[in-house]
Amino acid sequence: MTQMPNWLEKRARLTPEREAVIDEYGVRWSFQKLFEAACAMAHTIQHLLPADGERVAVYAPNSFRYAACVWALHDVHVQAVLLNTRLSVTELHKQLHDADVSLLIFDETLALAGKELTTLNEISSVCLQGLPLEMEQPEPVRSQWHLRDEVTMMFTSGTTGRAKGVRHTLGNHYYSASGSVLNLGLHNDDRWLLMLPMFHVGGMSILYRGVLYGMPVHLLPRFDAEKAVEIVYEEKITIMSAVAVMLDRMLDYVTEGYELASIRSVVLGGGPASKTLLERAAHLQVPVQQTYGMTETAAQFCTQDTASKDTKAGTAGKPLFFSELKIVKDGQQAKPFEVGELVLFGPQITPGYFRRPEANEKAFSADGWFYTGDLGWIDEDGDVYIADRRSDMIISGGENIYPAEVEGVLEAHPAVLEAGVAAQADEVYGEVPAAFIVVREAVSEEVVKSFCKEKLAGYKVPKTVIYCEELPRTAARKLKRHVLKERLQKGGQS
Ligand code: ATP
Ligand code: MG
Repeated sequence: MTQMPNWLEKRARLTPEREAVIDEYGVRWSFQKLFEAACAMAHTIQHLLPADGERVAVYAPNSFRYAACVWALHDVHVQAVLLNTRLSVTELHKQLHDADVSLLIFDETLALAGKELTTLNEISSVCLQGLPLEMEQPEPVRSQWHLRDEVTMMFTSGTTGRAKGVRHTLGNHYYSASGSVLNLGLHNDDRWLLMLPMFHVGGMSILYRGVLYGMPVHLLPRFDAEKAVEIVYEEKITIMSAVAVMLDRMLDYVTEGYELASIRSVVLGGGPASKTLLERAAHLQVPVQQTYGMTETAAQFCTQDTASKDTKAGTAGKPLFFSELKIVKDGQQAKPFEVGELVLFGPQITPGYFRRPEANEKAFSADGWFYTGDLGWIDEDGDVYIADRRSDMIISGGENIYPAEVEGVLEAHPAVLEAGVAAQADEVYGEVPAAFIVVREAVSEEVVKSFCKEKLAGYKVPKTVIYCEELPRTAARKLKRHVLKERLQKGGQS
C-alpha cells in the first residue's frame, strides 16, 4: 500500500520544465534536469558500490550536485549518510566508522580531507564532480519506492555532546513535508531559500518539499546574510528557513527600498528566538512563524499557523497534522502551563538512532512515544512553548532557571550582540547562572547586571559576566552551552 512511484521521476513527468534548483550564481535547473542528473549519478554509483554496501556518505557543501546525488542514492536504494562539513577529519573518521559506510562521495573543495578519510577508513570514494550529470536515455534504477525505505542518516547537531546518527525513512520525510504544507499552504509563486546546511534536517527537508510540491528551491552553499537578503529581494523568495542568528544578521541588511517584502514566512526554529528578535522582525514587517523540531522528527514538528503568528509571540504553535505531543511531568501528563518534558508521537519520528541502543532505550517508550529531553508547556489553546533543554536547566537554590530566558534579556540590551548562559557551581545555591557575552560596544558588568535586574527575578540574574570574542556554536549556529559550562569549571576563561 505504501509502494509508490519514484518521486523524482513522477515530478519530472508532471512538471518537467518547472525550476527545481537555483544556485547562488542564479544557474537554474529544471525538474527534468534534476531527474536526469540523479539517474546518471545513480547508474554510476551502483557500479562503484560494493555488493554488500548499504550506506554511502556525502561530504559536501550545498549545491545542485549534492541535491542530485541524494536523489540518486534514494534511487539506488542505499542510505545517504550526510556528513557535517565543519567537523575535523578525526571526528568524521569516527562517524564514517560508526555509520558503517562503504562509499564516500566528497566535494572537490573538500578533496584533501575526503582522500584522507578514504585511506583512514579503508573505503572506496569518488569526487562528486566526477559523477555524470547526463545520460542518453534517463532511466531510474528503481521506478517504485516504498515509504519504509531507509533513505537518509543525519547526525544531530551535537549541541549537547557527541552527535547521534538519526535514521530517516522515506515515510518520515513524506509526513514531514505533508504536515508542513498542510499548515503553511502552497502558493503558485512559492520559492524556498535553502541556506541551512543540507547535512542538517532543516536544510535537507527543503529538498523533499521542493520535489513533492513542485517548488523551486534556491541554494546557498554557506550562510551569508548580505547575499541571502539580495537573493530574497531579486528572486522574490516567499519562504525561508532560518535559525535566530541568521535572521538577526539578515535584518541588519534590510533597508528602505531593499526590504524582504516578498517573504510570506520565515520558518524560524532550531533554537530559542528572543523577544527582541521577534519584535525587530515585526517592526520590519518580516512575517515569522516559529517552529519546533529536531533531527529525530525529520524537521518541523510544531509550527505556528498563519492565523496565530501575529497575535501570539513566543509559541512554536501546535503539532503538525499527523503528529501528537504531550507534556510529561513526574511521569504524569502535565496540566496547561505546567513545565515538563515534550513527548512526541507521529509518523515523522525516526525509527531510531543508528547502533545506539542505550540512546534508543532512553528516548522511546514501549508504546512508541519519543522523549525529547526538551522542556516546555502548553497553553489553554494547545499552543506549545519551549522552555529549554532539560540538560541545560540551572537549579539555583531549588529554583529552575532556563538559560534561554536569561539570554533573551541580555540580548535585548543594545550593547550586547550575543549571549550564552550556563550553570556555575556555587557553595550556597548549588548552581548560579553565569553569562558569556559578545558586545557591540563597551558595557560594564554592573550595567549588564542592573539591566537584567529590571527584567528578571533576582535568582535569574547572572552572577558573573564574562566577555568573549565569540560564542561556541555548532555548524547550525547553535549555542554549545556545555562548552560554556566546561569553561566555567576551568575558571571561566574563553
Ligand atoms: P544534539 O541532540 O546532538 O545535542 P541538537 O539537539 O541541537 O543536538 P538538532 O536535532 O539539530 O540537534 O536540534 C533539535 C533541538 O533544537 C531540539 O531538541 C531543541 O532543544 C532545539 N530547538 C528546536 N526548535 C526550538 C525552538 N523553537 N525553541 C527552542 N529550542 C528549539
Ligand atoms: Mg538533540
